[in-house]
Amino acid sequence: MEFVWFRNDLRIHDHEPLYKALEGDQPVIGGYLFSSRAHEWSEAGFRRQSAKRSRFEVESLLALHQQLSQLGVPLLLREGSAMEEWRTWLNEHSITRIHAYTHPGSEERDDEQALKEIAEEFGIQVIFYEGDTLLHPDDLPFEMEKLPGGFTSFRKKIEDKDILPRKPLPPPYEQTPFMLEEQEKSGKELMSRFRELEASIYVSGGEQEALRRLYDYYYGSKHVLTYKERRNGMLAMDDSSKFSPWLANGSLSPRTAYWNLKQFEEEHRANESTYWLWFELLWRDYFHFLLRQKGDKLFLQSGVQGMEVEWEKDITVFDKWRDGETGYPLIDAAMKQLSATGYMSNRARQNVASFLTKNLGIDWRWGAAWFESQLIDYDPASNYGNWQYVAGVGTDMRKFRAFHVIKQGERYDEKGEFVRYFLPALKHVPNEYIYAPFRMPEDVRKQANVQLGIDYPFPIVNLQESLDKRQEVYKQATFKK
Ligand SMILES: Cc1cc2nc3c(=O)[nH]c(=O)nc-3n(C[C@H](O)[C@H](O)[C@H](O)COP(=O)(O)OP(=O)(O)OC[C@H]3O[C@@H](n4cnc5c(N)ncnc54)[C@H](O)[C@@H]3O)c2cc1C
Repeated sequence: MEFVWFRNDLRIHDHEPLYKALEGDQPVIGGYLFSSRAHEWSEAGFRRQSAKRSRFEVESLLALHQQLSQLGVPLLLREGSAMEEWRTWLNEHSITRIHAYTHPGSEERDDEQALKEIAEEFGIQVIFYEGDTLLHPDDLPFEMEKLPGGFTSFRKKIEDKDILPRKPLPPPYEQTPFMLEEQEKSGKELMSRFRELEASIYVSGGEQEALRRLYDYYYGSKHVLTYKERRNGMLAMDDSSKFSPWLANGSLSPRTAYWNLKQFEEEHRANESTYWLWFELLWRDYFHFLLRQKGDKLFLQSGVQGMEVEWEKDITVFDKWRDGETGYPLIDAAMKQLSATGYMSNRARQNVASFLTKNLGIDWRWGAAWFESQLIDYDPASNYGNWQYVAGVGTDMRKFRAFHVIKQGERYDEKGEFVRYFLPALKHVPNEYIYAPFRMPEDVRKQANVQLGIDYPFPIVNLQESLDKRQEVYKQATFKK
């Protein structure tokens, strides 16, 4: 019997392990391990995986379970430590070969190691495939150890050599339905998990949902043609593709996203916006390759630069950031959006990360951990890579840079629609003050019906003073050899 281990690749199309397993003449079964790490607690006092992320995971698995049934493939589920659960599976089923994608995260690699060890004990072959990125690692024009230290030179190397993603695989074969008692049990378990999770998220999980969004964004609404102009928007669904949650858990293969984009360009039009979507997908690849190159350094406080900066660990201040109570509307609206929906735009992510690290001076890993818990598109490489980048300890380290969170709001949400949506207390504040309500004169404040300190907080820091202070701290940074 052939076994396909599903991980962050919850789809049936363009799925090499599944394709290869079904190509043979042995019956195929699939399996998924719910990670016990989801229940762990972070240093800053919250669960590593929120109900929102769990809900997206379960929805994606329900869809996968159904798709696999149509191929005649049962899906087994287990929860616990990889080593023990593998032992149970291998004892209960006569598995001869295991197929799985490899994933670059440190914990994911630990799980792979656990599988390798146990498979050796049982004398079973394990085949790992590469498939989390748009470009196949073997097609890169350099060795992984020579990955450029900055995104721009990475992108140029790819574009100069005209390296393209490989084409997606043909649809998978079907097999004569292969029934296992556990199959029905898995369906019931997923339904009961689903019912328990009352979380609000902005998209639904599963490959069909991903493809629906893809076709609508390209062919239906054709919003992809205005991506470059709109992508800094923070509120509307169509400000950007919103492919990220499905890419993160593999319901959508990046190659499918790319080759459909190419087809759209051929049938309709190519413009700067369609190019920019490829550009952003390359950013994702860059962080995934960086994780392969740097390993654990992507998760260390000193970052890939080995830069030792002094960080604050003030839980009261952190909680104000986390709960959207900083007195800076751009930050507060964005943090409330994250808690309410499991999403935040790229523009807002950059600002809240900059504010936490460059104004509040809080350990960037606390912020990254909160994102990990809340984002339904959480992806270890993109999350920790971007956090390091904004915190100034990652790639492309330039001189101390920070976002001015008032000016950014005024620039990217001129009419204050984003803020008013998530901070109803500021509904009647005139545009002029919407990003700095503390500047409102008394008469305007009265008219807007906002009492600072009661309806909306006073700023927790002075922007310029806190930046100056942090800059001094960064100047004292030392570098690990
Ligand atoms: C501090 C911080 C943390 C982040 N954490 C994550 C994360 O955990 N998971 C995640 O998928 N993205 C993360 N991002 C990147 C980016 O914000 C999201 O990918 C994007 O907002 C998702 O929305 P979208 O799909 O509409 O993106 P679009 O703008 O439509 O972009 C298309 C795709 O390109 C990729 N992409 C775009 N920008 C980036 C980027 N800066 N880095 C890597 N890939 C990118 C994503 O896969 C995205 O789905 C983070 C960014 C920051 C600044």
